[in-house]
Amino acid sequence: MQHRRRSTVLDLRRENRVVVLQSLYFSRPSSRQHLSAATGLSVTSVTNVVRDLLDEGIVTEVGWENSDGGRPRVLLDINPDYGYVIGVDIGETRIRVDLFDLAMTERAKAEYPLDPAEHEVDEVVRDIASGLTAVLADGGIDPAAVLGVGIGVPGIVEQGPEVLVHGQTYRWDAVPLERLLREHTSLPLRIENCAKTMGQAEFWAGAGHDMRNTAVVLIGSGVGASLISCCSTYQGTTSSAAELGHTTVVAGGRRCRCGSLGCLEAYVGAEAILDRYGSTAAPSAEDEESMLAALIAAADSSPAADAVLAETAEYLGVGIGSLINLFNPERVILGGWAGLLLGGRLLPAIRESARRNSLWHPFAAASIELSKLGPEAVTFGAATLPMEDFLSRPPLPEPAGGELPKRRGA
Ligand SMILES: [Zn+2]
Repeated sequence: MQHRRRSTVLDLRRENRVVVLQSLYFSRPSSRQHLSAATGLSVTSVTNVVRDLLDEGIVTEVGWENSDGGRPRVLLDINPDYGYVIGVDIGETRIRVDLFDLAMTERAKAEYPLDPAEHEVDEVVRDIASGLTAVLADGGIDPAAVLGVGIGVPGIVEQGPEVLVHGQTYRWDAVPLERLLREHTSLPLRIENCAKTMGQAEFWAGAGHDMRNTAVVLIGSGVGASLISCCSTYQGTTSSAAELGHTTVVAGGRRCRCGSLGCLEAYVGAEAILDRYGSTAAPSAEDEESMLAALIAAADSSPAADAVLAETAEYLGVGIGSLINLFNPERVILGGWAGLLLGGRLLPAIRESARRNSLWHPFAAASIELSKLGPEAVTFGAATLPMEDFLSRPPLPEPAGGELPKRRGA
């Protein structure tokens, strides 16, 4: 019985700690009184939790706010130097590694080019390992201060005892990416599909902030998506939910990079748009990006370019309309470098197509917006994975009389 009572007290203490830390994290800076109102915990309970967090260096006092006629209140914030997280984006054309502090401010970054047609596993693993070493050196950070590394990959990520990546486009068949990286680093690793990490970035800091049900459509050379359902990413049975790019929009249509016919990606991915326009295959990312930008710029004077873009908006609206019918989101966010380029010109046409290709009731509830985050959205989102772990399981201080955890920051 005594053991049970002890674990219940510990559970409650941990629960309060998580609730207060998460509330502070998402509404920084905050006073103890505001945290009490936001969490439903008493000011005394909040004060007890905050005392621990201050002692451990996770939280810091940053100033005062005036209260209505009362005494000024102390403002609390996360201590950005308590620890660090790293985000990795295995993109179509480059690997990007970003180091963030606990306030999610970028502190160092590294980039390595990738052949868009070939993602050789050993090369990807080597580049990630080099990137981790490089950002820690550039940021002057002790690896012991790193809470974890999040990695966004283009493919289905099967979460299990061993994380496996199925990237059909790049012929990655059950690649044990975590095990391969273990030969180079002992840092905690989280691996997730890149569209899902971008979805999480939008939910934390972008156009999906404060939305409970959001669909994020990521368009680059290919097309990905993620669904945020009741504030968490919907995974499905084997973590492949929201493979929007490989839903069929034309039965027996154009050949897709996945091998099937008529996928959405075979019409609205940048590679497919350029191919439909008659451009030769782009040898590098910058070329593909500049070629798509040139196509969009030509649409005012070229009926051929205008027709390709009009068809693109139509197909993208079909895909988004299906998302709206199936998922009933509050917001659909269009992002990725090609998504932002296309959306700048085509958003009204995409909305109109989505309206014609969905039921009016769910369409009326859904806004379709462009991403507010830049090209670093995937690395930012990847870095939120270890951050999410930290906010859900912050270390408990030692019992009274024991030694408190050391401040982690370098
Ligand atoms: Zn496909």
